[in-house]
Parts: sequence; C-alpha cells; structure tokens
Amino acid sequence: MKELFNHIYSSIPKETTLVAVSKTKPLEKIEEAYNIGQRDFGENKVQELTEKQQVLPNDINWHFIGHLQRNKVKFIAPFVYLIHSVDSIRLLNEINKCATKNNKKISCLLQFHIAKEESKFGFSIDELYNEFNNTSPEKWDHINFTGVMGMATFSDNKEIVQSEFKKLRLIFEKLKNDFFKDNSNFKTISMGMSQDYEIAIQEGSNMIRVGSALFGKR
Ligand SMILES: *Cc1c(COP(=O)(O)O)cnc(C)c1O
Repeated sequence: MKELFNHIYSSIPKETTLVAVSKTKPLEKIEEAYNIGQRDFGENKVQELTEKQQVLPNDINWHFIGHLQRNKVKFIAPFVYLIHSVDSIRLLNEINKCATKNNKKISCLLQFHIAKEESKFGFSIDELYNEFNNTSPEKWDHINFTGVMGMATFSDNKEIVQSEFKKLRLIFEKLKNDFFKDNSNFKTISMGMSQDYEIAIQEGSNMIRVGSALFGKR
C-alpha cells in the first residue's frame, strides 16, 4: 500500500489534497494508511463513517463524499471535516441547523452535476444562481463554503472527462467571482478519482478523491 500512496503523493502538486476513499474497507486498511501519514479519508455512508470515526484516531480529517440524507446530518455534524456532496438547498438548511446546534461551522462543497449520466447528484448552475440571487450565501451563517465538487462521466473518452472538469473549473471561477470574492476559504475544487485524477489535476483540481487505486477493488 505504501508504494501506491507514494506514487500518488509524488505525482500530484503539493497543494493538492489527497482524500483516501476508504468506503467498504476495513479498519486495518485505514490504520495502515494512517501509519504512512495519510490523514484525510473519505466515506459515503453515514453509519459506516460514524462507526469508523469512533474507533480510529482523533486527528483524522473525515470527508463525507456520498449522497447525504437530511435526517442523517445530525450524526456526522459533531465531527465531520468537510461535506463534499451538498446537492440541495434543503440539505444546506439542515446542515446549517445541525451546525448551529453543535455551535460550530461546518465546511461544505457545493456539488455540481457535470456528467452525462442521469444518476449523478448535484446542482445545475442555473439552479444555484436562482437560489443565491434570492438569498445571499451569508444567510447560511453556520456553513463555511469552501468550494465545489463534481464527478465526471465514467468513460475512457479523455475528451469528455476533460471537458466536464473544465466546466466545473469555470463554475468555480464564476461562483468565486459572483458570491465569494472576499471569502478566502472558498478555494477548493474537489474533482478526480482513481480513473481520472491526472486529467482533473491538469484542469485545476486541488482535491482528489481516490479509492481503488490505493486500497484495491471494492
Ligand atoms: C467511491 C468514490 C470515489 C472513489 O472512487 P475510486 O474510483 O475508487 O477512486 C470518489 N468520489 C466519490 C463521490 C465516490 O463515491
């Protein structure tokens, strides 16, 4: 495993955060990665995440990367480091509410639908602009807006993947300019997985979410 981590560490810019996606993987695998020095881990199921969080070291940064149901936000609110998958205003409202109860701010990425596939969650740019033109992001006073997230189409066609990542990069720049100019926290573009993280980095990603290339097939 160490070789696989070192291969990725050495092939990405040092400002890029590697989120090791440990979903479905046992505690021992996470501990092994932790002992190499990895601190950012990604999970996509609330129950699995909370079970792992309870027994693993406290200085792990837990990233929630899957579709998040509103009634489960309360379980991760006390400890989650970053929610990548905010895909609706109702979810944003709920996260804001739980963050307020926990007397903290919760860092969130706005997830955009950039892929051709129907099944992928996320805002469209028009949808989000409708909301933010009506309600300034500052209304969500316990949300720390730190950037955007997206998933490209699962495809071997490099041009399709590249154009989707370009699109997310442009969305980020536009949002930054229109709503987050004075917010220095708004700086993260979470894109790129095992299959396509190299293309993502070329297109401006500074946070990649890599599972199978590190931990093996699921
Ligand atoms: C599973 C998952 C990943 C990691 O996928 P790999 O292909 O194993 O690298 C990244 N992002 C999200 C949102 C995921 O659900």
